[in-house]
Amino acid sequence: MAEPYAYFKGEYVPAKDANINILTQAFHYGTAVFGGIKANWDEEKQQFCLFRMKDHYLRQLNACKMLNMHLPLNAQDMADITVEAVRRTGFRETVYCRPLAYKSSPFAGVKLHGSEDDWFVIATVLPPFSSTGGIRCCTSSWTRTSDHQIPTHGKVSGMYVNSALANTEAYQNNFDDAIMLTQAGHVSEGSVTNVFVVIKGQLITPPPSDSILLGITRDTVMQLAKDELGLETVERSIVRSELYLADEVFFSGTYADVVPVIEIDRRTVGTGEPGPLASKLREMFRDVVRGRNPNYPEWYTFMKP
Ligand code: PMP
Repeated sequence: MAEPYAYFKGEYVPAKDANINILTQAFHYGTAVFGGIKANWDEEKQQFCLFRMKDHYLRQLNACKMLNMHLPLNAQDMADITVEAVRRTGFRETVYCRPLAYKSSPFAGVKLHGSEDDWFVIATVLPPFSSTGGIRCCTSSWTRTSDHQIPTHGKVSGMYVNSALANTEAYQNNFDDAIMLTQAGHVSEGSVTNVFVVIKGQLITPPPSDSILLGITRDTVMQLAKDELGLETVERSIVRSELYLADEVFFSGTYADVVPVIEIDRRTVGTGEPGPLASKLREMFRDVVRGRNPNYPEWYTFMKP
C-alpha cells in the first residue's frame, strides 16, 4: 500500500513513525527552514519528474546559512535522499516533498548559536490547490514581514505565522487567498505564492527588495516568458491601484502552480476570466514541470518508480 515516507535521523521510515521530541528547539521558536518540491507524475510515461530540485536545495542551504545552521549534507546528497524517499512511498501520482532543516537541541534557548541542527524530508501527497477558473483574493490587513525583521529570501518556519494569519483572515472573509503588502504599501506576495501583474502587455513582478521569497516558480515563469514568448519581465514595485487596474493578475508557486486571480477586493480583474498570458504561462509551466520541454534538461530529475 502506498503511504507517505520520510528520511529521518538517517533512516527511511513511514512518515507516521517519524516523531520529534517535544523539547526540540525549533518546535518552540520556529527556528527551522523548510522547502517544497514536487515530484510530478507523468501518467503517460509512468515516471516522476522532480522539478528544479537542486535549485530548491541551494535555496534551503542559503536559508540555513542565514539561520546559522550547519548540516553535514550538500544539495546533491539531499536530492539523492529525496529521490529514494519518493520511491519508497509507492505512490503513482504527484508527490510533494517537504524537507525541513531545524534547530534540534532540547531547550536550547532563544538563539541561533550553540544548538545542533538536523534535516529530514517527507514525501507525501497533497490535495491540489483549488484554482479552477481562477481565484478571488483580498489585500490583507496583515503586512508582509520585512526582510529586516526575518529574512524573507528563505522559507523560515516562524515567518509563516504571518502567511497563516493572512490566509485565515482571507478564508474567514470568504476569499480564496490574500495578497500581502509591504510596510511601505507595495505589493509583496500571496500567503504561499509570488505575484505577477500584466499591464498593457507588460509582465511585472515585485523585486527581491519588496520582502518576497525568491520563488523558483517565479524564476521559471520569467524564463519561460523570455525564452518562449520573447517577453522580458519587469521587476519593480507594484502599488495597490495597479492590482485593481491590471489586465491580468496571477500567482506562482510550487504547490499552487500558475493561478489566475480573477477578483481582488471585490473588483473584477480584467474580464473576470483567466487572462490569455496567465493561461499560456500556466500551460507551459504544466508542461515543463513534467519534463516535457526539451530546452531545460538541467531542471529535470527523472525517476521511474
Ligand atoms: N512566497 C512564499 C511566501 C512561499 O511560501 C512560496 C512557496 N514556496 C512562494 C512564494 C513560491 O515559491 P516557489 O515557487 O519556490 O514554490
